[in-house]
Amino acid sequence: MEKLISVIVPCYNEEESVPLFYEEMKRITTTLGPYQWEYLFVDDGSKDRTLDILQELAEQDDRISYLSFSRNFGKESAVYAGLCNARGDYVVVMDADLQHPPAMLKDMIAVMEEGVYDSAAARRVSRKNEPPIRSFFARMFYKIINKISDADIVDGACDFRMMGRDMVQAIVEMGEYNRFSKGIFGWVGFRTKWLPYENVERVAGETKWSFWGLFRYSIDGIVNFSSMPLSIASWTGGFFTIVAFLMILWIILKKLLFGDPVAGWPSLACMIAFFGGIQLLCIGIMGQYIAKTYLEVKERPHYIIGKTNRSDVKRIG
Ligand code: UDP
Ligand code: MG
Repeated sequence: MEKLISVIVPCYNEEESVPLFYEEMKRITTTLGPYQWEYLFVDDGSKDRTLDILQELAEQDDRISYLSFSRNFGKESAVYAGLCNARGDYVVVMDADLQHPPAMLKDMIAVMEEGVYDSAAARRVSRKNEPPIRSFFARMFYKIINKISDADIVDGACDFRMMGRDMVQAIVEMGEYNRFSKGIFGWVGFRTKWLPYENVERVAGETKWSFWGLFRYSIDGIVNFSSMPLSIASWTGGFFTIVAFLMILWIILKKLLFGDPVAGWPSLACMIAFFGGIQLLCIGIMGQYIAKTYLEVKERPHYIIGKTNRSDVKRIG
């Protein structure tokens, strides 16, 4: 029997890109051999005509399903909803803006058919069209997170990835609320073949990422996959406790030898400010973890589907 391949496409305000994406996919998939295809467009609470366009497409082509969220839940939730509802033997996650070149599907399928790998993922080899400052922070982020977490997070890895059933199942089972896909893909393990590709500009519309958005996302990644910042906070605390102890000894000795306990107001003021700062920093780090824990224990759903053309999906998941 022909294998079924599910294509998951998170879409947020992609009215211009979706039709282009669909046309391109239609063209490419006919050249890829005897496979069946299903499309899962996840409309992540778009404010433009994305949903109308998806509904029109779904009427023309019964391989298309759309899951439309009741509001914007974020790309991570959209991908999760797609993975939960994909039925394919292979599942591929792709952006709607054609930044993930459909031409690569051919190589991905070939890798999967070999039977050695559980997933085939695209990896950006150059950061050509990116501002240098962003590349610098991105590199730093990958260096740091790989040192301090046990999820293997590859520099330049993007979410464009084809996976087999086993891997999809493992990812769906990871029901955490704070989802950091790059970490989750790495954490579940399995054998991944990396396929290099050059960065492509988006076809239409604009990116939803600002510099600060990415910065916050990277902090999220670290907090989600490592408790190292907490250890650093404790070690800093320990170190300064020892320093404080030595200083007390010194002050007592000074008083006994020279009898002048009053001098040193400036150094005192500096110390109070310094330790105040460190304490707040450490409490802040703890706060980050507590906030994440708070969101996890509430066990809120990852997404709520308002409209869909499929009858078998769980609307709240
Ligand atoms: N996206 C989404 N929800 C969001 C933001 C983005 O589903 O809240 C989708 C978006 O429609 C696109 C993909 O995620 O298909 C990647 O977004 P974008 O192109 O803005 O990110 P970039 O490619 O610049 O990293
Ligand atoms: Mg993009």
